[in-house]
Amino acid sequence: MREKWVYLNGEFVPKSEAVVSVFDHGFLYGDGIFEGIRCYSGNVFCLKEHIVRLYESAKSIMLDIPLTPEEMEAVVVETLEKNGLPDAYIRLVVSRGVGDLGLDPRNCKQASVIVIAEKLSLFPQRYYDEGLEIVTVPTRRNVPDALNPKIKSLNYLNNVLVRLEAARAGVHEALTLNQDGYVCEGSGDNIFIVKNGKICTPPTYVGALEGITRNVVMELCETFQIPCAEVPFTRHDVYVADEVFLTGTAAEMIPVVNVDGRIIGSGKPGPITAKLTEAFRQLTVQRGTKVPGMFSTSV
Ligand code: PMP
Repeated sequence: MREKWVYLNGEFVPKSEAVVSVFDHGFLYGDGIFEGIRCYSGNVFCLKEHIVRLYESAKSIMLDIPLTPEEMEAVVVETLEKNGLPDAYIRLVVSRGVGDLGLDPRNCKQASVIVIAEKLSLFPQRYYDEGLEIVTVPTRRNVPDALNPKIKSLNYLNNVLVRLEAARAGVHEALTLNQDGYVCEGSGDNIFIVKNGKICTPPTYVGALEGITRNVVMELCETFQIPCAEVPFTRHDVYVADEVFLTGTAAEMIPVVNVDGRIIGSGKPGPITAKLTEAFRQLTVQRGTKVPGMFSTSV
C-alpha cells in the first residue's frame, strides 16, 4: 500500500511518525485552530474560503501562523498530491506550539502546522438516502462572549459533549440551543429548516460557525430563487418544519427526518433538500482548486 504522508512543521513525515510534543499547547489546552476541507475528484472545494476562515480564527485568538495564506493553500494541495488522493477530507491544524506547563501562550515560540489528508464519510450512506434522526441535548452552545463559535478553535469540548449526549440518546447527531433556547447548530454542522417553500438558518450571532457549506447552500438558494433567511428560531419551529437538513464539510448535506421524536414533514427527505443536495454535489466537482496530476472523474 502507498505510504501516507502528513505535513508537519515544514516537512512531510510518514503517518506513523507524525507526532507532536506533549508540551504543545494544542494538546495541553486546546489552544489552536483548525479547518476541515474536502477535495472532490481532484478539486479542493472552497479552499480560499477555508484559508480565509483559518486566518480569521488565528487573528481572533492572536495566533501567528508561520506561513502566508498562499503558502498554506499550496501545502494543502501538496499534501493531497503527495498522498495521491483525489477524494479526501483534509484536516488543517495550527496549534499555539510547544511551550511549558504554564498557560501563558507567550512561552510558545512557534505555532505548529499540521495537514492530514484521509478518506472520510461521516455518516453511513443510508442516512444520506433516508435521513437522520437527531435530538436536542442539555449542553448549551458556548456563549459567543466566552468562546465565540465563529472561531474554529481546537477547543471542541462543547461539541464533544454534544456528540456524547447524542450517542447516549442512540442517534448520530444532535442540535444545540443557546442560553435563550434558540437553535444554534449540530456538533459539527449547520442546520437549515424549510417551511412553506422558504428556508431559514440561524444567524451566526445566535451561536454558530459561519459554515462554508452553509454559505454555498445559501448561494444555491439564490440561484434557484428559493427565499433563504438568517433568522433565530426555536425547537418548535424545527418540529413543525416541512424539511430539515444539516450542512458541513465532513457531513456534506444530510436530510433530517426526526427531531426529538417528532417526525419531520412526511418522514422522508423532502424535495427542496433533494434539489439543493443535487446542485451541491454538482458544484463540488465543478468548482475548486485543481490538484496537479489529478483529473475530474465525474460530474
Ligand atoms: N458547525 C460546526 C461546529 C462545525 O464544526 C462545522 C464543521 N466545520 C460546521 C458547523 C460546518 O462548517 P463547514 O461547512 O465550514 O464545514
